[in-house]
Amino acid sequence: MQWCLVKSLTLLVVACCWSLGAHAYIVNASEYQWLEDHPKVKVAVVAERLPLEFSDPQGQAQGYAVDMLAQLASQTHLVFDYHVFSSISSAVLALQQGQVDMLSSAPRHHRLSPFVHYTQATELQTLVAYQNLNHARFSSVEQLSGQKVAVVMGSSAHEIVAKQFPNLSLQPFTRLFDAMQALAQQQVVAIVAGNDEVAAQLRAMPQWHMQQAFQFEQDLEHRFAVRDDWPMLVSLLNRGLNSLEPNFSQQSYHRWQSIVATTQPSNTVSYWWGLGLLLLFIVIGTGFLFIQQKFHRLKYKATLLREQLDYWKNHDEVTGLPNRRHMTRLIADWLDDALPMSVLMFDFPRQNEVFENFGQHLGEVTREAYAKRVQKSLRRHYPEAQLGYWYHHYFVVAIPTVNRDKEVIAIAKQIIQSCRGWLRLEQLQLLTRCHVGYSCFHPSRDAIHSDALLANAFTALNHAVKDGSSICRYHPDFSQASLVKLTLESKLRKAIANDELELFYQPQYCLLSNQVIGAEVLLRWFTDGGAISPDEFVPVAEETGLVLQLDKWVFENAMRFMARYASQLAKDFKLSVNFSAATVSLGHAEKIAISYAQQWQVNPQRICIEITESAMMEQPDEAKASIQRMRDAGFGIAIDDFGTGYSSMAYLKHLPVTLLKIDRAFVSGLEDNLSDQHIVKAMVMVARSMKFQVLIEGIETQNQANIASVMGCEQAQGFFFARPQAEVDFVQHYLPKPHVKEPLRLVGS
Ligand code: C2E
Ligand code: CA
Ligand code: CA
Repeated sequence: MQWCLVKSLTLLVVACCWSLGAHAYIVNASEYQWLEDHPKVKVAVVAERLPLEFSDPQGQAQGYAVDMLAQLASQTHLVFDYHVFSSISSAVLALQQGQVDMLSSAPRHHRLSPFVHYTQATELQTLVAYQNLNHARFSSVEQLSGQKVAVVMGSSAHEIVAKQFPNLSLQPFTRLFDAMQALAQQQVVAIVAGNDEVAAQLRAMPQWHMQQAFQFEQDLEHRFAVRDDWPMLVSLLNRGLNSLEPNFSQQSYHRWQSIVATTQPSNTVSYWWGLGLLLLFIVIGTGFLFIQQKFHRLKYKATLLREQLDYWKNHDEVTGLPNRRHMTRLIADWLDDALPMSVLMFDFPRQNEVFENFGQHLGEVTREAYAKRVQKSLRRHYPEAQLGYWYHHYFVVAIPTVNRDKEVIAIAKQIIQSCRGWLRLEQLQLLTRCHVGYSCFHPSRDAIHSDALLANAFTALNHAVKDGSSICRYHPDFSQASLVKLTLESKLRKAIANDELELFYQPQYCLLSNQVIGAEVLLRWFTDGGAISPDEFVPVAEETGLVLQLDKWVFENAMRFMARYASQLAKDFKLSVNFSAATVSLGHAEKIAISYAQQWQVNPQRICIEITESAMMEQPDEAKASIQRMRDAGFGIAIDDFGTGYSSMAYLKHLPVTLLKIDRAFVSGLEDNLSDQHIVKAMVMVARSMKFQVLIEGIETQNQANIASVMGCEQAQGFFFARPQAEVDFVQHYLPKPHVKEPLRLVGS
């Protein structure tokens, strides 16, 4: 094996030395290996950039830069595969998306620099301004100030003048031909570009009467621009350039200039013949050719425009990535070909935060930065994968031939890894995070549409976000669960609108006096198919944002209850109302409570607002401020389900809480589970030390009531005392008749 390597290396060195003569080009072992691994280098060439590069009528890449590459190929054993593009920007985009590996002749440009390495300069041109012959001559750039000046978009001329002469009113064109045509048609007063390119174009279009106005001090350098993860290619090319014959560049450059020049009438044709032919040509052909030329130009322009429109219909304008429409079609094609694959959906929530807090510009900069990171990682580890932009802060990756979990997870991990860490954007620094959901296609067992495959990946992503996990694989149960949820949500919307909900009341007791001291309002939803538990529909309402309407409805009806039975309720009777976590942390709870209490003229001192321990911990600062304002307005505040969350005692101490409700999870073990007993005792002690009252929930037996009382719980609620009941039943059982003034009934009496 080693012997083979040594042998082939020796052969290669000898071959190179032989072919180069004096300028020996010797590759080392790692370069040799690289050449073996990369049998072809894809080169982007722009179609009309005489004499640098252009495509001949057969569609072959030609020109000075191509010549130079051919020379390098013969010396370095690199094999170049040319791809022709209609403009510099489309060639740059192709490089950015990994469709090609290098540009054959590129200026240093800020849009290009982040993802390429440049070789040393391959060619130098003078930067010049050209103008129409019939216009008074401009002699300096200052005279162009405020006037329209054409440049080629993305060219180094564009970069230089935009940066150094901000007073110029630049008009960028996709191609040099268009820019010069604009000058010929006097839409601009001048054009700034490389002298040789303008001169070559003028030789092809002699009817444009233009002259050089002045030269700039700066020169234009062109280089090879190579994808930034191939530094080896840069060093091979640089070495190749250094070993070129000293006069190769000059000879080749002039050759291309003269080849372009021969397309013009030859000087050797005799004057008379020329004149005669010219007259004949003018008489017969001018009109026809003029129309034909115009027609071809128009047709060409229309094709170009259509191509551009088509391109942007299928690509995201910020990142240049294939968009939703393009990706869906691509996946559909792969499905048609029964190609095994996986589809990964990515979520970058920080992009949304940036967009909401700092506006569109920074939002787009963030999107671009994420796209670059993911693209780079994919190109390095899995070049076949196709990255696309979905919408908002979502990206999608489709990977052909990979559908095994292990491989997909490894790729997803690589992408997550590439996005981890700090992202520096203008004045902002972001710590990035991302989630991935994926779905796989196995041709032998799945029959699926591209929309469904993508939707599955999206469902998996939602699960990952909800669980806080970084990667989640799609499971059919997810769709079933989402369907159930969707149906429930739409039914609930209707139920709220049609007043199909009802409030039930569960009495709360004083354990010392055995008297009803209040009640908790509990929401009920009766449908044709039976009652649906709030444990089932409240979380759905929370997820869909419906919970705000629900909490409003409950609170208003609770106040209506208090107003309706004001004369029958004992003076110290308190009604407890639940608020969901979302309503509290978004600051809606205080507005709802204060406005409805005022509207129904209910004294806030008679209302206790129940907030779960986890809701208080969700956004502690917002929750604390909101709770304080409700307390200031006079409402009592209870921590619901106490003991099930993770609240720190230090935090609770600073909350203006009046009541602590020990969760019913501890009650079942109260009679025989020592640790539950200790926990309840400890909770009572904590509540006492903080001057909170204590209510124990879920008491189902006399024994539990007794133990809770001995442990120091003052209040209790549970099936042992009474189940939640409809308003009519509650009023009938627990409130005195309006005309009879008697105290509330005791339990068992
Ligand atoms: P929660 O606030 O802890 O309400 C107490 C739950 O315990 C009620 O269930 C009640 O029926 C049940 N319960 C009472 N005594 C006993 C007992 O002795 N044994 C057992 N096993 N259970 C008992 P419900 O009404 O199904 O409510 C469940 C949860 O739904 C509530 O828990 C609350 O988080 C939420 N919820 C109910 N009504 C509303 C409401 O109006 N608004 C909001 N935001 N959430 C509500
Ligand atoms: Ca409650
Ligand atoms: Ca509770």
